[in-house]
Amino acid sequence: MSKDRLPFARPDIDEATIARVADVLRSGWLASGPMVKEFEKGLSTYLGGAAVRALTSATEGLEIALLAAGIGPGDEVITPAMSFCATANVILRVGARPVFVDVDLDTRNILLDAVAAAITPRTRAILPVHFSGLPLDLESLYRLAAHHDLRVIEDAAHAIGSRWHGQPVGSIGDLVCFSFHPNKNLTTGEGGAIVARNPHDVEYIERARFHGIQRGAGGELDVLFAGTKANMSDIAASIGIGQLSRLDEFNARRRQLAHRYFELWSRDCPLRLPARGDDGHSWHMFAPLLPLHDDTRLSRADFIRGMDELGISVGVHYPAIHTLTAYRKLGWKAGMFPNAERIGRETVTLPLFPAMRDSDVDRVVSAVNHVLGVIA
Ligand SMILES: *Cc1c(COP(=O)(O)O)cnc(C)c1O
Repeated sequence: MSKDRLPFARPDIDEATIARVADVLRSGWLASGPMVKEFEKGLSTYLGGAAVRALTSATEGLEIALLAAGIGPGDEVITPAMSFCATANVILRVGARPVFVDVDLDTRNILLDAVAAAITPRTRAILPVHFSGLPLDLESLYRLAAHHDLRVIEDAAHAIGSRWHGQPVGSIGDLVCFSFHPNKNLTTGEGGAIVARNPHDVEYIERARFHGIQRGAGGELDVLFAGTKANMSDIAASIGIGQLSRLDEFNARRRQLAHRYFELWSRDCPLRLPARGDDGHSWHMFAPLLPLHDDTRLSRADFIRGMDELGISVGVHYPAIHTLTAYRKLGWKAGMFPNAERIGRETVTLPLFPAMRDSDVDRVVSAVNHVLGVIA
């Protein structure tokens, strides 16, 4: 067994990208400039021509998207109990109330029947997640939203390059937010983007990401509202340009690696594997559930330690959001969303990134079988 440490995620930055970043550093222009324009144009082309604005993070993107949709105090936004905390934090940050609903145990995606049941007269928007890059049923989602006159803000942080019925996530929809954090399928170091279709939203996002500033014909400055500061730098965008040119290649490799996990665990699998999806799945993460529920001898911490001793890093994505202190303070309680809570207790994220070799997958599978066999 190789002694190299195997992380659960690792960005793949090629020499051409490093050279492009160096050119930007030498150019004297590091803030938003020609690289951001080029990256946005590339993303827009990839997404079938939609308007794209590059930002410093998806968290900023989600918050700006909520504001663009006019969400604020007194409004309810329906969102999954299983996601990264940012998905719900942004709802609190704009003064609205997150209304959690449960997710499917295997796809980890929001249950649309539960969304429909959670709609009240105060509901203004749905904020779902394409969990681990497995696209939601967009047709059912948008039919439900249209029926109740709700806005949709898609948290597509995991889903750059994912396809639903052949169409890239972000190429259709209302407001769609991507993350380019280093662990995501495309990185700019840190970064994000919003895709918008309504021209008023695009205009709002353009202003909101840079102080609410509007420039007159002669360059004179006016401020239309108190915007934030979330424009992407040319340094970040120059990384993104190189990443975007390889995105489909990266995601194809992720799919191969995920398929290898399924193949090696097609028999005698000690885990509950995630839903397989189809070729539109971009496999941001490979996160099975540990067999903890009926076995008190094995803890997740034991499992993670056992894997670590074999040189393999394992992540946890994520605790159920409603069980976190900030949300318990608002009255949410353990027991309300059994699938999200079970995922939160049992999930582990195994290594999956484009530069992994097939033999690395074999090594992870052997290690998991060994650790579970030894401790269980
Ligand atoms: C990473 C992530 C975010 C936040 O993205 P940043 O670019 O780090 O702000 C939001 N939602 C989900 C589901 C994520 O995984």
